Amino acid sequence: MDRAPLRTLRVGGLVQGLEESDAEVLERAMRRVGAAPDETRGGRIARRSVDARKRPVQLPVQVDLVVPEGFRSKALQREERSGRVRSAPLPGSLQPRSTGGRFVGARVVVVGTGPAGMFAALPLALGGAQVTVLDRGADLSERHKRLVPFHRGGALDPETNLLFGEGGAGTYSDGKLYTRVDHPLEVPILEELVAAGAPPEILFDARAHVGTDRLHTVLPALRQRLVDLGVEFRFGCRLEELELSPSEPGRVTGLRTTLGRLPCDAVVLATGHSARDTWETLALQGVPFETKPFQFGVRIEHPQELITRARYGEPAPEVLGAASYALTAKPSGTVRGAHSFCMCPGGRVVASVHEEGHLCTNGMSNSTHSSRWANSGLVVTLGPEDYGGDGPFAGVAFQRRMERLAFEAGGGTYAAPAQRADDFLAGRPSRGELATSLVFGARAARLDELLPEAVTGALAAALARWERVIPGYSGAEGLLLGFEARSSGPVRIPRDRDTLLVDGFRNLQAVGEGAGWAGGIMSAAIDGARAGLALLALA
Ligand SMILES: Cc1cc2nc3c(=O)[nH]c(=O)nc-3n(C[C@H](O)[C@H](O)[C@H](O)COP(=O)(O)OP(=O)(O)OC[C@H]3O[C@@H](n4cnc5c(N)ncnc54)[C@H](O)[C@@H]3O)c2cc1C
Repeated sequence: MDRAPLRTLRVGGLVQGLEESDAEVLERAMRRVGAAPDETRGGRIARRSVDARKRPVQLPVQVDLVVPEGFRSKALQREERSGRVRSAPLPGSLQPRSTGGRFVGARVVVVGTGPAGMFAALPLALGGAQVTVLDRGADLSERHKRLVPFHRGGALDPETNLLFGEGGAGTYSDGKLYTRVDHPLEVPILEELVAAGAPPEILFDARAHVGTDRLHTVLPALRQRLVDLGVEFRFGCRLEELELSPSEPGRVTGLRTTLGRLPCDAVVLATGHSARDTWETLALQGVPFETKPFQFGVRIEHPQELITRARYGEPAPEVLGAASYALTAKPSGTVRGAHSFCMCPGGRVVASVHEEGHLCTNGMSNSTHSSRWANSGLVVTLGPEDYGGDGPFAGVAFQRRMERLAFEAGGGTYAAPAQRADDFLAGRPSRGELATSLVFGARAARLDELLPEAVTGALAAALARWERVIPGYSGAEGLLLGFEARSSGPVRIPRDRDTLLVDGFRNLQAVGEGAGWAGGIMSAAIDGARAGLALLALA
């Protein structure tokens, strides 16, 4: 067998035709670098995106080709000089390298089964730690059962809901997996998700998403993978307090939980952006918290057809499915910038809450993106100078105030206060039926008056601009729903940049969105995995 060292080339600057197969693009990539089929040892699409600015819509692609290390055709040299071909980045690994660290074989508790917690547990288990993962919410099947009565008008369960329970906040989401961080751990994480049943396209699709329906099969498979590695899961188990060593400052010796004491050698906190009660207790125990800027605004919903028509033209190519968008409006003078966030094509708006009497919007969708609605967050960044108050939890207090306001303005039934985009811009109330995919419905309210002035001003400027990008976006068919209060976390836990140990602690790491170090499924998963690897590498 040929064992010559190999090199992976990343071939860019290619555009795939809507009718063109992947194999045909691979052939074109080989021709581009002057490689005959028998000179390549494999190839795959590494990245595919949709460029909706062009007509017809284009699919820019990057292809990875594996060639012998010594392969140097004239064509390759020319393409490398032009920058269209380069060496593909080397993927990282979730398998810890260190076998002699002090936490190898140790008892590690991971708090939270969101992406950060699950991907912290994986390298820890692969590296031989004895891992227990706990979550205050229920396992997936029980979580699903408990959400049904809430969505039918029943009481909200503060422990198991759209934010808490197996899989964390992203379980009922679009399952978008893109990140702007381009980290070496991204590929091994995506490979784990594919092995757990996620579609293989997530490995290269620049707009990769899994969808709530598929996440419901992927998450149990991921849990089984961890169980097979010896990880123990405890659901319905809330971390109440840390047990701290009386003789060694900054050493956690165990956890007090709703299911009893749990002695341990190290803890990974991965509690997500809504564990407000837990943060307050941990702060009293000396865990440092800082307030940080976060995003705040509304969700906007349109008929999906309006978005797809504007993005892809008419008739929209069926192969492209429901169109998505990402919009930004730069600041201008004293008016702040705004951007769309967490756009869910073919999805629905959800009441993403865990505290009774509070309302916060978000969006989810299934893998097929098949609903007739498109929704997205429209957010503005707010800092401590905007939301006022003192102390590390001033942002949380602001979120709570605004969520309470949204609940009341919606009529106290988890219906969202809403205003059509054209009425928002004109500063008038909306009349008539306000159709929405939110199961609790929408109720007319003056969002332009309820929102902080800076947010109203920024959203108005952005909506006026985006109408030019997507005709109809800011008209009567765009419905603003309040409020999008938790697009990112309002606190940060300061930590060491390499070990991810919380400042002042020897065996406590804080990761993911709740620690203020991630903002999305992939970035939380990467942060968690970094923590697991870093803990095992500690001498
Ligand atoms: C409706 C919705 C849709 C979203 N859509 C997307 C999307 O499409 N793409 C994307 O990238 N991001 C999306 N997000 C954001 C994404 O879900 C989060 O960024 C991500 O889940 C954060 O991961 P995490 O592991 O840090 O925390 P989480 O996923 O929030 O997990 C934290 C877990 O900790 C548990 N926990 C909290 N406190 C305790 C305690 N005291 N004891 C025990 N357990 C505790 C919670 O029950 C929870 O399960 C969405 C969020 C929502 C709410």
